[in-house]
This record gives sequence, structure tokens and C-alpha cells, in this order.
Amino acid sequence: MAKEDFYKLLGVERNASDAEIKKSYRRLAMKYHPDRNKDNQAEAETKFKQIKEAYEVLSDPKKRSAYDQFGHAGVDQSMGGRGGFGAESFSDIFGDVFGDIFGGGRARGSVQRGADLRYNLELTLEEAVAGTEAKIRVPVLVVCGECNGSGAKKGSSPVICSTCHGHGQVRMQQGFFSVQQTCPTCRGTGKQIKDPCGKCYGQGRVQETKTLSVKVPAGVDTGDRIRLAGEGEAGERGGPAGDLYVQIQVKDHEIFTRDGANLYCEVPISFATACLGGEIEVPTLDGKVMLKIPAETQTGKLFRLRGKGVKPVRGGAVGDLLCRVQIETPVHLTKEQKELIQQLGDSLSGGGKHHSPQEHSWTDGVKSFFDKLTG
Ligand SMILES: [Zn+2]
Ligand SMILES: [Zn+2]
Repeated sequence: MAKEDFYKLLGVERNASDAEIKKSYRRLAMKYHPDRNKDNQAEAETKFKQIKEAYEVLSDPKKRSAYDQFGHAGVDQSMGGRGGFGAESFSDIFGDVFGDIFGGGRARGSVQRGADLRYNLELTLEEAVAGTEAKIRVPVLVVCGECNGSGAKKGSSPVICSTCHGHGQVRMQQGFFSVQQTCPTCRGTGKQIKDPCGKCYGQGRVQETKTLSVKVPAGVDTGDRIRLAGEGEAGERGGPAGDLYVQIQVKDHEIFTRDGANLYCEVPISFATACLGGEIEVPTLDGKVMLKIPAETQTGKLFRLRGKGVKPVRGGAVGDLLCRVQIETPVHLTKEQKELIQQLGDSLSGGGKHHSPQEHSWTDGVKSFFDKLTG
């Protein structure tokens, strides 16, 4: 598919200034916000992705000039792949935009952004498949409520740093060179706290256990991440907060094993059912279903129940449930039962190859193997 012109996408002229490009990009980013496009989210998402790509190029002087000269060919290589465009990367992109718009997001200049945090969330297979809302408790550094993160005692405020006079940087003379350095007094903030807050001791942050509610979409699997923007550690002295990444871990299930969208299970069946055929009850994640076992079924045969697997979180077809039957050898036999089985065995072996083709072809194989060795 031919790519749309980046200037057209952003609705600006080819000679548009950086400010015009940024302004248009913000307007369009708001317009295609998923909350405002509930009815056609997929379309808005695609549109947003294109706008974002266009902006990434046109906001970068180097990339813009390459694009002006060579078109898409000039910038495609340098873009790099973003990989799958799942729910996560979508929120990542929105984090970037709104971080930019509201002045948070990336650490820039002197404000220290809070650290990103990771939380491991264990789910049962049922929860992962159906989706759930999990309450999690996360110990985290939050903005101090007493001083609103300034670190200065209530009623007072930080003063301009006397070492750097508020620049956050100091110039050091080293021989012929003058080196710019982060101010050691205020650690680059440009401010000094004369009277520290009693609750956070001037840090602007305190340790707290936050209870958060995490919406886990249906179909997640081990290794998936959910990003909660701004729920990480608070930034130092009013800096923007980091993000919280909820890492999904699905617990082993007593019956089912999951492989992507498919589920596997083993079902024991009786010797009689295997011989004569019948119906058995098999479990699925949404209740029991009947499975027809044809006569003369061998052990290990795999039966596929279409659409009884998992609907993948990133879209795509619902998987299948694969049931492998295991013929169970009867145990605790009475004398009478043993006699009956002996009779059956004698009768079957009388028929030779006819009743057990696998056994005979295997025996023949072994025989020819030894013949070759000795011959
Ligand atoms: Zn405080
Ligand atoms: Zn300073």
C-alpha cells in the first residue's frame, strides 16, 4: 500500500514551520484519541499511527530534509520497526503524546522523572482467557501531600540556589577549559530548601502503598505487559512520575496447557469405549461438552474441538481445544474379569494381523531389522 504524504497527513504546507507542524499534530492527536472514537477505534488507531509517524519525521530536521529530498524512501530505514501494534504499544504512543502535551513524560533538563516500576501479576488461566479486573497493592514513592512535592516546609517555599543562582549548572575552570556541570548544591534543580518538610525530610516524596485497579483484557498470556502511565514512582521535587508495568504471569492449570490460542488436555477413556466407540464428557473453559469417540480409536489420538480455545488479546481467530485420548488399562480385576479378558485376548490373537495391524507391522519391522544385522 502506498504511504500517504506526511505533510498531507498532518494537514500542513510543505514549508510549514516547526511550530505549525507541532500544533497540527497535537490537534489531530486529540481528535483521534481512543476515548473520542469509541465507535471506530480501529480506524482511529490506524490514523493515529500514521500521524505519529509523520510527526516523528517532520519534527526532526534531519529526517525532514531526508524526506523532502527522497520521500518515504529517505526515512523508512531510519524509522525502524515498532513491532506489533498491540494495545500496549498504542498506550505507549499515547503516553508519548500526552506526556509531550502536558509537559510530563520524558526527563528533560533539571526535573528528575520518577522510576518506572514493575509488578508481577499472577492470574489463573480462566482469568487470563476471560479478562479480569485485578486489585493490586504497590509500594511506591508518591508525591508528599504535606509539601505537594516541593520538599519545603508548609508555608515556606524553596529558594533560588545560592551556588548556581537558579541555573542548575555551574561553570568550572579546568586549565584552559571551562566545563559546565550540574550544580552540586541543588543537584540541578536550581532551588534550595532552607526549611525542609517534616514529613518527607525535603525529598518531596514519601513511601506509600497504593491500591490500584488493573483492567486485564481477555486473552492475555504470560509475558504480556500492561502499562499504567504515571503510576510509577513520583518524580523528585515535582518531577513527572514514572510508569507502572504490570507483567502478566499465568499459573499452570490442572487440566489445560496453553500454547498461544490453543488449549491442550488429556482425557482418559475406557478400553471398551476405545473399541466400540461412544461419547465422553470433556471439560472446556466454558463448561463441559460431549465428544464422540469413533469405534477402534487408538490411544494418543488427538481430537480437535474448534473454537474452544482462547481468543488472542491482539486479535485473530479463536483457538481450538485439542484433546488427546489415553486408553486406560483396567486395574483391580476380579478373577472373573481376568478370565474374560484372557478369553478375549485368545480370540483376538487367533485373528492375527487382522485385529492388531500396528503390532504386527511393528513386529515385522523388528524382524527385518535383525535380519539385516545378521544377514
Ligand atoms: Zn514533604
Ligand atoms: Zn544550584
